Amino acid sequence: MPNETQPILQGGNNTMYTQGQPQGYPPQQQGGYPPQQPGYPPPQQGYPPPQPQQPGYPQPQQPGYPPPQQGAGGGYPPPQQGAGGYPAPPQGSYQGAPGGPQGTDEPSYKGDIPDDDVEVNPDNAAGAAPIASAPPLEKMDQVAGYNQMDAPLPPPPPPSYDEATQPTERAGIEQTPTLTDEEAREALLSYVAENCCYGKKAAKNLHVNDLKHTAAFHYTLETFTEKRTTKWVNEPFSGQPVDGPQNGPAPLPWSIAVNIPAMFTNSIAKVEVPHTASVKPCHDCHSMGFRRCHTCLGRGRTRCHHCHGHGRRHVNHYDHHEKRHISRWESCTFCHGRGRQRCFTCHGHGQITCCTCKGRGSLKFFIQLTVNWINHMNDNIVERTALPDELIRNVTGQVAFKEENARIWPINHFPDQAINQASRELVQQHSGAFQQERILQQRHQVRIIPVAESLCRWKEKNFSFFVYGFERKVHAPDYPQQCCCGCTIL
Ligand SMILES: [Zn+2]
Ligand SMILES: [Zn+2]
Ligand SMILES: [Zn+2]
Repeated sequence: MPNETQPILQGGNNTMYTQGQPQGYPPQQQGGYPPQQPGYPPPQQGYPPPQPQQPGYPQPQQPGYPPPQQGAGGGYPPPQQGAGGYPAPPQGSYQGAPGGPQGTDEPSYKGDIPDDDVEVNPDNAAGAAPIASAPPLEKMDQVAGYNQMDAPLPPPPPPSYDEATQPTERAGIEQTPTLTDEEAREALLSYVAENCCYGKKAAKNLHVNDLKHTAAFHYTLETFTEKRTTKWVNEPFSGQPVDGPQNGPAPLPWSIAVNIPAMFTNSIAKVEVPHTASVKPCHDCHSMGFRRCHTCLGRGRTRCHHCHGHGRRHVNHYDHHEKRHISRWESCTFCHGRGRQRCFTCHGHGQITCCTCKGRGSLKFFIQLTVNWINHMNDNIVERTALPDELIRNVTGQVAFKEENARIWPINHFPDQAINQASRELVQQHSGAFQQERILQQRHQVRIIPVAESLCRWKEKNFSFFVYGFERKVHAPDYPQQCCCGCTIL
């Protein structure tokens, strides 16, 4: 039986930390080395195992150990036996950690394991945790109408643009809202009051020479589309319903009805394609339900990373009796001198539950249809003052015109020709831009945003400012920066 009290040094071919060490190794139970007795012996010549009647950890090459097959509990198969040949899955195979948090001293894993314990830094586990992999596509069933996977499916041909009904009557354009002189002045005065330490006094000294009222136009086009893709997916099989080809041929991807969660909103839905399911053995664990532990590689224990398997560490300390610094060997407190520790990943079992089948051993495969609803939005801003155009996008205004249909026609009746032209260009652009998607609905609108521009005089300085949007936002890039305290405002 492998025994954790057996020091790893006993392993005869662990040359990496035994070469060139002097002889004379005292028993470990003495609690470390006397200072006058330095160094390590080659393990072959010194240190007897504390319990020689116990076979200890098997090392197939080392004489004196029973052949692995004779060991109690079946022992370990020789490494070369494991290649390609998984042992038959034990009935009701992996039982988790029967020893509870204490784990076990005997690894359950019977496959291929390395000769030596693996050294593992717990902060940086040696083996990458296994991830679920996809089985080769050629192993998947052939399903009519589902030859193209993992790419957008070409949508059915759309109704031609001429077939879409061109509106004969369109809503008229709403009146242009304006800001009154008083509203614009108030907006600027409160802006000055908030932004200058003179406060209201500064605002009173401000002289508004002139106010010019204009309007900005914001055209927005939205095209709401649907994109469909299919792929093979799998999930652990635990007896859930399996709707396979015996129930009939699979419906074609674009003929499967999927409800739209919300119009003009990006969203996604995944549905199982009917009659495509089947149950297959798990390809990642060969139906065993468990896999070799990636941390200890099946050994159930790892080399102690504090003492690197030595079981003891070299420590310097000050000896008060001898009144000098001395260095000596001390038993490793982390592994209690064993040189190895139980694997923290598998709790000593040497194997972990297969993450692909969650220990079930078989998988349900089916074609999954992914439906993407995408809202494509483009806009155009017509603004003819020095106010930066993009400021218009995020303030409220009046919706002067709004239209929604399966396919829409460009606006041609707006008083400002720049908006009509923007509508023509964007509608044209959207009509050919989404070849891999099916257009479900379109809508467009024009908003009119009031803009007031004014020339002001304050402290013998002229500057212009803008008040825009129903929120009466102020844009005053030339606003005089001097204040009572000389602070900078903008
Ligand atoms: Zn392990
Ligand atoms: Zn240790
Ligand atoms: Zn599996």
